[in-house]
Amino acid sequence: ALPLEESAPAPGRNETLARAYADPDRAYELDRRHVFHSWSAQAQLDPMVVTRAEGSHVWDRHGNKLLDFTSQLVFTNLGHQHPRIVEAIRQQAADLCTVAPAYVNGARSEAARLIAKHTPGHLDRVLFTNGGADANEHAIRMARLHTGKHKVLSTYRSYHGGTQLAVNVTGDPRRWASDNGSTGTVHFFGPFLYRSAFHATTEAEECERALEHLEQVIALEGASTIAAIMLESIPGTAGIMLPPAGYLEGVRELCDRNGILLIADEVMAGFGRAGRWFAIEHAAGVVPDLLTFAKGVNSGYVPLGGVAISDEVYRTFADKAYPGGLTYSGHPLACAAVVATIETMEDEGIVERAARLGEDIFGPGLRDLAQRHEGIGEVRGTGAFWAIELVRDRATREPLAPYGQSSPEMGAILAACTRRGLLPFANFNRIHVVPPLTISDDEARTGLAILGDALTEASPAGG
Ligand code: PLP
Repeated sequence: ALPLEESAPAPGRNETLARAYADPDRAYELDRRHVFHSWSAQAQLDPMVVTRAEGSHVWDRHGNKLLDFTSQLVFTNLGHQHPRIVEAIRQQAADLCTVAPAYVNGARSEAARLIAKHTPGHLDRVLFTNGGADANEHAIRMARLHTGKHKVLSTYRSYHGGTQLAVNVTGDPRRWASDNGSTGTVHFFGPFLYRSAFHATTEAEECERALEHLEQVIALEGASTIAAIMLESIPGTAGIMLPPAGYLEGVRELCDRNGILLIADEVMAGFGRAGRWFAIEHAAGVVPDLLTFAKGVNSGYVPLGGVAISDEVYRTFADKAYPGGLTYSGHPLACAAVVATIETMEDEGIVERAARLGEDIFGPGLRDLAQRHEGIGEVRGTGAFWAIELVRDRATREPLAPYGQSSPEMGAILAACTRRGLLPFANFNRIHVVPPLTISDDEARTGLAILGDALTEASPAGG
């Protein structure tokens, strides 16, 4: 046999992949023939072919350039094709593409160190997963094993992922079709003044009543049966509802008083999105027992999620095996992307930049839009994490799409955005403004102006 270097010349660019990018119409046809898309009616789809992406922009196959106000699914926090992340992945691929979770890998060790450096309190150990849903499943498993109890409480207006247990704890309508009525998951009302379940009229009242409600749920479910309360520190796809001052402190206190663990789901709100490294830092001093993350941890360049674990929970598994794991836990390519992402965030002050984007541009800009557009019922958010709630009538607050559904009117507004070069993020009757944290001030203002024009053209409540 010939020595390897003689038998295998260095390969050139893979020809199939080169053709896939050169011929986007073929890519589209193959997609429609062979790719099964998530959360969709397959025959009704006409998905956009993304031929190229850079920074805050993506291009379609017709040559249109769109400003990405979605960060895809709220994960490209450092934008598309960030050179430092691309280079780290390339370097890691050349050095060592993969090694199983049981071995020590340098990229993984450094990624864990950097994550632990930024999580609040002593959440110093990291179990890596492939994404957010499995991170939440593992956090729940840990909480159950640590407490010896079974139930998990979570809010109705929440999304915790698409795998079975994660979808069971999810509260919002994405749960309905897959909910197997699993015992062990119980939902309660979180605070949301605009559509208060408690008939509250002030944030303070909403906070007090939401905590009283949760206290009753705990009492009636039985504290001795509840392992954990799982909360998005700021609920994301369910509506970007900032908890009122004192709420998370109150939940932490209820957990402590009842021997319940607090699991903070920071999959969407974490890693700078909310103008803090983690959204829970908006409630000073509140440290969860377990914190789950994904998305922004490496801008989603290679799939990765994880659970950051408190010292106390860690001790449960110090001398007793943790029964669980995933083949690709802490994949080296994903971990290399984590290292480059977090170092870039540190070097370039990305978290502070996200906070300033909220204070200087998105907050004032969206409130200004609401002054001019009757169809905006409420503006909520912080950092680069904003939602506008679209209504038929400000007085009645009737949503522009029924809960859990879209509507032709919402569709018309979204189409008007896309026609003008803006990729919008929508859920039911809301448009979320969730661009990369690296978006320039000019791009951010341009996106808001397009949103305003789209509302003028298509909002039934009038421009
Ligand atoms: N938790 C939250 C708050 C999320 O927003 C998401 C995804 O949007 C998930 C969990 C699920 O993450 P993944 O889709 O990576 O499994």
